[in-house]
Amino acid sequence: MVDRYATFANSAAGKALVKRLGLPAPTTLRRYSPGDPLVTGPVLVDAAPGGRLAPAIRKILDEAGVVLRDPVAAAVEAGASETPGRLAALIFDATGVTSSDRLRTLYDFFHAHARTLLPSGRVIVLGTAPEDCAAPREAIAQRALEGLVRSIGKEFGRGSTAQLVYAAPDAPLESTLRFLLSGRSAYVSGQVIRIGPAVTAAPTEPAAPAEPAAQDRPAAQDAPAAQDGSPVDWERPLAGRVALVTGAARGIGAAIARVLARDGARVIALDVPAAGEPLAALANEIRGEALQLDVTAADAPDRLAGYLRDRHGRVDVVVHNAGITRDRTLGRMTAEQWDSVIDVNLSSQERINDAILELLPAGGRLIQVSSMNGIAGNRGQANYAASKAGVIGLVQVLAPTLAARGVTVNAVAPGFIETPMTARMPVPLREASRRLNSLSQGGLPVDVAETIAWFASPGSSGVTGNVVRVCGQSLIGA
Ligand code: NAD
Repeated sequence: MVDRYATFANSAAGKALVKRLGLPAPTTLRRYSPGDPLVTGPVLVDAAPGGRLAPAIRKILDEAGVVLRDPVAAAVEAGASETPGRLAALIFDATGVTSSDRLRTLYDFFHAHARTLLPSGRVIVLGTAPEDCAAPREAIAQRALEGLVRSIGKEFGRGSTAQLVYAAPDAPLESTLRFLLSGRSAYVSGQVIRIGPAVTAAPTEPAAPAEPAAQDRPAAQDAPAAQDGSPVDWERPLAGRVALVTGAARGIGAAIARVLARDGARVIALDVPAAGEPLAALANEIRGEALQLDVTAADAPDRLAGYLRDRHGRVDVVVHNAGITRDRTLGRMTAEQWDSVIDVNLSSQERINDAILELLPAGGRLIQVSSMNGIAGNRGQANYAASKAGVIGLVQVLAPTLAARGVTVNAVAPGFIETPMTARMPVPLREASRRLNSLSQGGLPVDVAETIAWFASPGSSGVTGNVVRVCGQSLIGA
């Protein structure tokens, strides 16, 4: 679906008019292509006195080949020069902020460098989760960071994003830093992400697979699944892993299947039999497997568990993406409309999880697709919003139990994404949805898929229990 306003606003004549009239200016976002450098320029990392993360961050970025600016030189330059050198990212370690008066260190840093960011620049503030702070004043100051970061997301413009990462002392940071710095997180902004210590469990082998005939044996089974803790190949982090994606025939599900395959996974693409043709084409394209199955069928959990056990003996990544809408205000909604949405979007996923979670080994990843409307609610979508809020509940309930087995569970909550689903929206509502966010445009299916790939990465072993919105920092439900 073409965003005509964005095309116009990025034309030579459009740019000038948009600026003069103060209209929304949707910058063309930097998105990831294989082989791209992590960032497009130097990165400045600074810290409040007593910050505990900056040295580790500098080491990670240095080893990743990122050019780091010296904070002292950058501050001098910012004060002395009208045109200080441009930066691709500003990273501030705020873990040393133990009381509200120390928030001033963030003012000093961002005031000095606010105008130095390159287009599609990145702001990352790291802190300690308020619930993990020992002293009340520290917890209050750390909570204050949310307001600052969300304001930066709304203020800096030109396709830049801003995130707050609350990190535990021994949290593995690299996969999250890489995701947030790169073009993979183009449409993620204003988010609060929590990273804990790596979830680990003594690798318990799932039920032994029935031995498939050699000629039927899929490629993924030949390569052992990478275990958390071993070095990550950042170009193909999912090599050797088996991933299931539901609702994969089109839209966001197809993008997820493509991105997970690009990252090295053997993808099982699942969709209803009626979508058999596009499903087969997609599976062919990504050299994966097509599985025709209605997730609400009574025998779906058993059939799916049997398929995974027989073919692969396990499943490393499960993405519950299949979803439907049946919109009506409650007074007009039929019981069938209520039931079908709750069943596809929530109940069937619970039944399937009951049957297949035992096939997720240590290092496994369960990923749910919620929605911004599951956070904010929406007129005419009580059924959909209930189902998607339930998905968030599922993440919260399962996170502690699965962590004990070395498995993470997270959800994405997409905002307005350009898909056949949103192409059917009435024009005024569609236009409003596109503009009412900090990036002034809709997201693409690939933006949701990249966020899911970050959750799926073996490097994301400390990322669990999170609900991350892929919404360009939408004003709705913020
Ligand atoms: P879509 O309608 O384009 O694709 C959904 C896919 O799920 C289809 O291929 C469909 O056949 C499949 N599916 C539906 N019922 C199924 C069933 N019973 N069994 C197996 N497969 C089934 O939708 P989309 O826009 O790509 O959305 C994908 C997910 O993202 C959904 O969960 C949706 O709620 C969520 N989401 C989308 C947006 C958006 O803006 N498009 C926003 C928020 C959340």
